[in-house]
Amino acid sequence: MKTVCLGAGPAGLFFAICAKRLDPTHEITVYERSPEGVTFGWGFGFWDDVLDSLYRNDPATARQIEAASGVWDGIEVHISGQPTAYLGGYGLSMGRQRLLDILTARARELGIELHFEHEITDLTQFADADLIVASDGINSPQRALAEPEFGTSVESGKNFYLWLGAHKEFTAFSYIFEKTSAGWIWLHCYYLDAGRSTVIVECPPETWTGLGFDQLGPSECLKTLEKIFEKHLDGHPLISQIADVDTVSWLHGKQVANAKWYRDNIVLVGDSAHSTHFSVGSGTRLAIGDSVTLAEKVHEHDTVAAALAAYDAERRPVIARVQGEALRSMRFLEGAPELLAANPDSVQFAHAISKRLGSRGAKWRYYLHLATQVKVLRAARGKLTAARRAKRIKARAAL
Ligand SMILES: Cc1cc2nc3c(=O)[nH]c(=O)nc-3n(C[C@H](O)[C@H](O)[C@H](O)COP(=O)(O)OP(=O)(O)OC[C@H]3O[C@@H](n4cnc5c(N)ncnc54)[C@H](O)[C@@H]3O)c2cc1C
Repeated sequence: MKTVCLGAGPAGLFFAICAKRLDPTHEITVYERSPEGVTFGWGFGFWDDVLDSLYRNDPATARQIEAASGVWDGIEVHISGQPTAYLGGYGLSMGRQRLLDILTARARELGIELHFEHEITDLTQFADADLIVASDGINSPQRALAEPEFGTSVESGKNFYLWLGAHKEFTAFSYIFEKTSAGWIWLHCYYLDAGRSTVIVECPPETWTGLGFDQLGPSECLKTLEKIFEKHLDGHPLISQIADVDTVSWLHGKQVANAKWYRDNIVLVGDSAHSTHFSVGSGTRLAIGDSVTLAEKVHEHDTVAAALAAYDAERRPVIARVQGEALRSMRFLEGAPELLAANPDSVQFAHAISKRLGSRGAKWRYYLHLATQVKVLRAARGKLTAARRAKRIKARAAL
């Protein structure tokens, strides 16, 4: 079987790895328009379910990702003028570039052909391919060529966001809300790698224009943000999107959906098929899940057509649920300034954050939330969480 993957992001690379492991005779070539070692974006946040899936599907990749990631412990909600509020939980995170480096090296080791700096615009050169995997991201050129056939729809967010890094290591996942003369602006911060964190800045359009971000150049923009969040960054600078390039890219959150994820022998995976708002930190997780399922279906079925139909049918309900949550999260954040104006209490607001994906939340959870604002009770909950995680790690070792 002969397969071409368009795009060496997590979806294209992990599909290639899984498919090659299932059938070492499978000829797979991956084309990527960017040079090797160059990507956009900062951290990849995830949970233990991703590690479980990686261990099940390629332990060699899983071990390296586990070793390269850090664990953030608990969630802190900082609101200007308010005491810090706390939520439980933990997560893992690592640099996106490190993730891609691991996947690229593993793909090569398995004998997958990789071509960087190859932008694919014309598929006629792949007439002999059995399968074409459009792992070409949220703005997928392949999807754009046939939007009516895929039934593409896009839901755009109102707020602006900016994906940055910072030379400060946040040990907890931190939401930091600051009220400026132009309105509210906030950060989502989490571990990136030793001594650094991912920082996503978000604000409504009124704050964005009020602070002059529509006029400011990249370095003035970063300076303005560093000043607003100085106290939380401990004076550390923010780092812009691409190292050595003086640029910042403010964007709007965008949720892409498609009524169908394949046509003929071309299949959409990862962000080309469906994107989710960054505030649920799930796009890469879903791209990895798609890759696993697609590789399995291609291996199990006699025809590509049957494999693609089975992949679409299995993944669609999983994705629909997460996209629903992501949309609610995006809308919650758009309404955050009104919510804070009505009640700026950080403990109440933190509770609202914890329910933003749509859970109704049992009453006891609310009382637990109030109780764990107290340090000693928070520490007890932390111990329980750590014990649960240790059990999960032990179960994984037996996979
Ligand atoms: C601010 C922000 C924070 C995020 N945080 C998280 C997080 O914490 N956790 C998480 O799970 N997800 C997160 N995500 C989502 C995550 O980045 C994406 O969901 C994930 O990268 C999707 O992987 P992919 O392989 O489908 O697409 P991509 O990673 O976008 O890869 C697509 C690749 O295709 C290449 N390409 C495109 N067109 C062509 C062409 N014509 N020829 C050749 N190559 C081409 C591109 O250069 C790119 O390398 C975040 C996203 C944003 C915006």
